[in-house]
Amino acid sequence: MKRIAIIGGGISGLSAAFTLEQHRRAGAPLEYVMYESTSRLGGVISTEQVEKCVVEAGPDSFLTEKPWAADLCRELGLGDELVVSNDAERKTYILVKGRLLPIPDGLIFMVPTRMLPVVFSRLFSPITKLRMVREWLCQPQRPSKDESVAEFVERHYGTELVDRLADPLLSGVYGGEASQLSVRAVLPRFVQMEASHGSLGRAMVAARRKTVANNSSRPLFTSLKSGMQQMVDALAARFSPSFIRLATPVSQLGSEENGWMISASGARDYFDSLIIATPAHAAAKLLLSAAPELSNKLRSIQYSSSVTLTMGYDSRVRSSLPPGFGFLVPRSESNRLLAATFVHNKFPQRAPEDRALIRCFLGGSRDEEILQLPEDEIIRIARQELREILGLDAEPLFARIYKWKAAMAQYTVGHLDRLERIDRLRQQIPGLALAGNAYRGIGVPDCVRSGTQAAEQLLSTMGLAGSAPGLSTAGTKP
Ligand SMILES: Cc1cc2nc3c(=O)[nH]c(=O)nc-3n(C[C@H](O)[C@H](O)[C@H](O)COP(=O)(O)OP(=O)(O)OC[C@H]3O[C@@H](n4cnc5c(N)ncnc54)[C@H](O)[C@@H]3O)c2cc1C
Repeated sequence: MKRIAIIGGGISGLSAAFTLEQHRRAGAPLEYVMYESTSRLGGVISTEQVEKCVVEAGPDSFLTEKPWAADLCRELGLGDELVVSNDAERKTYILVKGRLLPIPDGLIFMVPTRMLPVVFSRLFSPITKLRMVREWLCQPQRPSKDESVAEFVERHYGTELVDRLADPLLSGVYGGEASQLSVRAVLPRFVQMEASHGSLGRAMVAARRKTVANNSSRPLFTSLKSGMQQMVDALAARFSPSFIRLATPVSQLGSEENGWMISASGARDYFDSLIIATPAHAAAKLLLSAAPELSNKLRSIQYSSSVTLTMGYDSRVRSSLPPGFGFLVPRSESNRLLAATFVHNKFPQRAPEDRALIRCFLGGSRDEEILQLPEDEIIRIARQELREILGLDAEPLFARIYKWKAAMAQYTVGHLDRLERIDRLRQQIPGLALAGNAYRGIGVPDCVRSGTQAAEQLLSTMGLAGSAPGLSTAGTKP
């Protein structure tokens, strides 16, 4: 019987455990133990039901085009519970000089694919509009080095587009800055488009034609009717409670001759293999004496913190809010709010018809200090800014605030080189796999894939990949 330990009970660790559990049930001679430092599973995924509203503490959905999370939900029997975003209402605003201006139609992520709506938009200055037209003439190129997203976008469209679109969009996904994040790690598709077409606009139009020809346009976001927690609960129900150690932080790891020693809450246990599915900074701490060089590299992956605040309002507020999914705030506006989502429009099933649900994002790499503020003060700041932006004076019916310290990995320039080094160092350590949002994708679907691949990699090196009839493993890189 082979024993495998999983450290970290977020979606990455849970996906790894699910893969191991499937193999165990199919007859593979293995057992596993999951260590989680908090008293609940799910990591940053957590949902509360408040006055008939679905309030997400962390992620509220995932990108439909990345299939791994939805596939996992279907495997868990949650296929009928999947819901998609209400894209008929998919309008997003950008705050410019205190006013909300809609992102014009025909812009995909930050790339203009139709000129007419862009030309008539008040979001961009004439100079930026001219740059957008000129971008159509860019010739293919392959820069020899990685660069920041800001540098890349500036080369194509100029600084205004970085400030008004690239930076706020990335700050929504990573809590980070376009001037720090690696274009190769964060927008690899754009790098390929530049290499193949030169112009991102022309490349996007070509890609879109293919999508339309395949009739494969789909809603942007997928989620679950009662919230993302459904996924965690369905996973947790698959494991025997004896395999899960909640409120048991691993404090020390030892590399033994034929495996690993784990010390947690004063008890020691021994395993053949180990999956570390914690944030990279926590993995670095654990590996400090067993693998100092790997630990060092893991520590160099930076993280940012964030705060989400959801406030519920009555029907009068709902009818006074603009249509659409919400708004983004560029740094140049000097607000502390980074973005706000009108949840009742994005996922109508998450609020009764007589309620408005506004979810605010604060923090990120430029405002880590906000985490130190008391909740009342954060609510006061958010309400003051919503008053200025939306004219929203009403007292919320309820407010829920969640602080996530060092939870969002930052794929800064050079990230892919760092990963290559981490992979090489990890391969020198038998029986170790890494999973989580620090490596090849920060979103929930990427984390599901990362955990699954980490488990498959260990099964394959332990010679257990083929031991469960009917289950195959891909044996892919971690
Ligand atoms: C506010 C917010 C909003 C987001 N929104 C979206 C979104 O809408 N869509 C999307 O796709 N993604 C979103 N993301 C990103 C995505 O949710 C995360 O990247 C993903 O859930 C991370 O999962 P994980 O398991 O890798 O890490 P985590 O969820 O951080 O889990 C790691 C776990 O390891 C445990 N741990 C740490 N150290 C130890 C130790 N020593 N011993 C035992 N356990 C330990 C922690 O307690 C934690 O439970 C969002 C993230 C945040 C923070």
